[in-house]
Amino acid sequence: MLKTSKPLSQALYDATEKVKKQSGDPDMWLKEFSSFLKDQLTFNNFCCQNFSDINNFDFLKEETEKGLVSVIKEVSKLSLDKMKKFRMKPDQILIDQLCNCCWVTCPFCAAVCTNTIADHSPDKHNVPFHRPSGIKGWYYKDTVELDIHFCTTLVASDERFRPHHGSDERIPYKEYQTAGEEYATWQITPDESKLIYWKWFVCRFQKQLEGHYTLKFQGRGEIPNEWRTYSKQEAIESLDEMYNL
Ligand SMILES: [Zn+2]
Ligand SMILES: [Zn+2]
Repeated sequence: MLKTSKPLSQALYDATEKVKKQSGDPDMWLKEFSSFLKDQLTFNNFCCQNFSDINNFDFLKEETEKGLVSVIKEVSKLSLDKMKKFRMKPDQILIDQLCNCCWVTCPFCAAVCTNTIADHSPDKHNVPFHRPSGIKGWYYKDTVELDIHFCTTLVASDERFRPHHGSDERIPYKEYQTAGEEYATWQITPDESKLIYWKWFVCRFQKQLEGHYTLKFQGRGEIPNEWRTYSKQEAIESLDEMYNL
């Protein structure tokens, strides 16, 4: 079983580049490819007779990727009954992997760190996509206005924040790592990336979030009109793209 298709894309790329550099043959390509994936995927039988005359490895890479991606999609549609027939149960593999993962959440947006090791210090906590900080209940002091900004945007801004509820101290977002342990252990890369899924999520669950925090997405926390244009399907597709499915 593959954890995600990310290792798959990486293995395809690495194997192809290596074989091209060393002027290898399809046999070498298959061996390299499977050795890059040995922790995630087992090939029972190698058979490269069908493409022994292939020397365009980019073509081989693209065709293999297409084939395996469709297999992953098929597997993800399997019913629970069918899953019980697997030698290693997919749900058990997931549980094993997730239980040993880092579960620390971003102090601004509550996105869960994606490091696969529970205690990975001194490596900082990291996540490829953050969320609007209003999802964690951040708001503008003395107002009911939830913060609509993604924390990746905030840490690039000249704005300031109060690191703890009720604290008088205001720290520049750009220096968030000086705001205490909870902040110092995170690496939040400043950028303008805004995953469509979270735009859709805030619109879809606006009422629930406002009710939960008894605050509002209004004023400075007004949801941009553009966010309301996305369908649930587009939101799901943005997640698929994120994981290269
Ligand atoms: Zn965040
Ligand atoms: Zn972590």
